[in-house]
Amino acid sequence: MCSPRESGMNTLRVARVTRSRSRGPRAGSRGRGEDPVPLRRAEAAAEGRKGHSPVKGQRKTQRLHVAYEASDGEKDESTKPLKVPVWEPQDWQQQLANIRAMRSRKDAPVDQLGVEHCYDLHAPPKVRRYQVLLSLMLSSQTKDQVTAGAMQRLRARGLTVDSILQTDDGTLGKLIYPVGFWRNKVRYIKQTSAILQQHYGGDIPASVAELVALPGVGPKMAHLAMAVAWGTVSGIAVDTHVHRIANRLRWTEKVTKSPEETRASLEEWLPRELWGEINGLLVGFGQQTCLPVHPRCQACLNQALCPTARRL
Ligand code: SF4
Repeated sequence: MCSPRESGMNTLRVARVTRSRSRGPRAGSRGRGEDPVPLRRAEAAAEGRKGHSPVKGQRKTQRLHVAYEASDGEKDESTKPLKVPVWEPQDWQQQLANIRAMRSRKDAPVDQLGVEHCYDLHAPPKVRRYQVLLSLMLSSQTKDQVTAGAMQRLRARGLTVDSILQTDDGTLGKLIYPVGFWRNKVRYIKQTSAILQQHYGGDIPASVAELVALPGVGPKMAHLAMAVAWGTVSGIAVDTHVHRIANRLRWTEKVTKSPEETRASLEEWLPRELWGEINGLLVGFGQQTCLPVHPRCQACLNQALCPTARRL
């Protein structure tokens, strides 16, 4: 990390290089007699910036001063991105290590019944991806045990885009009940399945933008679908557990009011190689220790490091 003094020096250096580079190609073009009109406009503009009026009838030659002609090694140095100091929470690495230790047994509901465990391993790839998306749609505002039960009932009938579209709403409602907001979910599942059949050949889209455009699919589901169904870490999947714990541990620079705000804040500083791990780690921690109400601070390895522990 560079000091403010060094940073200022770098800024100056980059500014000089930028000016130099922006003029270089124009100078070459002019020398070859190409594209004279834009060049003259540029010269006039340059004169104007200096506060001089062009002399009528006299073509004034603008000397293009190359302020910085670097060797290859120097160019590499100068074009390195500036290191901007990034805020990061105090003690986050120790807090994370403690959470990993508390989660080492992998015995939280999410470890046995989470989205990775709800699809049919023997189904064709695109059917597996559809089942991943469906289990994510069912999981919002719903305990893992309830989601897993609904997925079992659906899979027992053969869970594909076609089978869902052929199931009437009443039957689908009975199959997924008692997942949270099951009536809305019946509607969303039907609408999303119809879109997948019409536009994606029965598969699910492979981008966050397309996933969140589907009815009933939010950013957390989209990032998890990208990770589980496509093996791509596209962002941090933030649900209520991650949102709550990140704020309790002050892992966001400011207090955040929504999971999306928390995701953006975490992605500002958390090393990218940890993004894929955070959801499962914190969801299980939130299910077992850092509970929504009455967190078990006495049993938490982070008690001495947690800014919220003393006030709970
Ligand atoms: S000390 Fe309490 S509030 Fe803080 S992380 Fe641990 S369980 Fe959560």
